[in-house]
Amino acid sequence: MSERTLPKDGPGSLGPQPSRRLAGLPGYGRGRAGQATPFAHRLGSNEAPEGPSAAVQAAAAAAIAAAHRYPDLRGERLADALAKRHGVPAQCVAVSAGSIVMLDQLIRAYCDPGDIVAAPWRSYEAYPIIVGGAGARLMEVPLDARHRLDADAMLKACASSPRAVLLCNPNNPTGTALAPDELDALIGALPGEALVILDEAYADYAADAVTVTASAARRLAQHPNLAVLRTFSKAWGLAGMRVGYCLAAPQIIAAVNAVAPPFPLPAPALAVALAVLDEEDAVAARVACCVDQRVRLTEGLGAMGLPVARSAANFVWLAVGDEAEALARHLHGFGIAVRCFSGEGVRITTGTAADTAAVLAATADWKSGAGRP
Ligand SMILES: *Cc1c(COP(=O)(O)O)cnc(C)c1O
Repeated sequence: MSERTLPKDGPGSLGPQPSRRLAGLPGYGRGRAGQATPFAHRLGSNEAPEGPSAAVQAAAAAAIAAAHRYPDLRGERLADALAKRHGVPAQCVAVSAGSIVMLDQLIRAYCDPGDIVAAPWRSYEAYPIIVGGAGARLMEVPLDARHRLDADAMLKACASSPRAVLLCNPNNPTGTALAPDELDALIGALPGEALVILDEAYADYAADAVTVTASAARRLAQHPNLAVLRTFSKAWGLAGMRVGYCLAAPQIIAAVNAVAPPFPLPAPALAVALAVLDEEDAVAARVACCVDQRVRLTEGLGAMGLPVARSAANFVWLAVGDEAEALARHLHGFGIAVRCFSGEGVRITTGTAADTAAVLAATADWKSGAGRP
């Protein structure tokens, strides 16, 4: 029998090679606000400006005291509470460690290699990573001139028979949203064979957030091909705990659970999500503050002549095109972390009143020419 040979180091090594589909994947940036960075104003990742309440922290501590036990197999208690909140049966909810993970489960459950996933573009930068990582192909459907999801273009894209259609409403990074009736019309016109994924990470910031929360039940009843994604990372202020969920027909929930390992969420994450659901009024008050700052930012930046998109989320989009890098660098120089999309624009999260004042002052400085070559 032949002798076993050890693989040699370096190029040409016979060691395990990752799938070729990893080669083309874009990276995911940190929004220049890692724990160790010195930014005084962390406005790069659409996080809530306030930390969790004492009651939410106590819920996490209690869960840690019982950390020798496994958590719920599928986060059942949280899923039940969410089902009640949205007025859907418990079989219509699945939870995950962040809604990005749920998107990954949906794509892996529904797409085979080479399948097309249509999505608006520019949109959330995690989409190409997740779609490409599953071996599917992202079809980018350009936004309209007002940076909004273009429903007609999305319907035309369906001529290529996508396996899934992603809708991000409000859209990240532009903040623009389709009105509920426009969204209903689009979902109704999409082909029934396509899985329609509606990413509502920012739906809690809508003027009619209560209606939007209730809309999931109505839409699920009308569209068995719809999966709605929600997260605790933004308005609910728990980005660090990684909790997201999906609302969909029971057969879709069964499919996403089929590709998830058991115990998807650690006990403290389940506990804090349950606890924060009891603080709905406080969350609504924080959302109102956030919307207030969004109005101040939109008006202030607009008054400087900057192209501000009309946002329905906790951030604003400045479509400054080729000046994006220079503006982002200028803001960074003032201790303000923002997210830069080179050649396209700059996304600025709404924070506290002090954050807003800092952004307006630094941007006015840039407009006055101080930051330009
Ligand atoms: C922030 C964000 C999410 C949230 O992802 P989590 O994994 O729940 O933190 C999802 N979709 C979009 C468009 C986002 O901007």
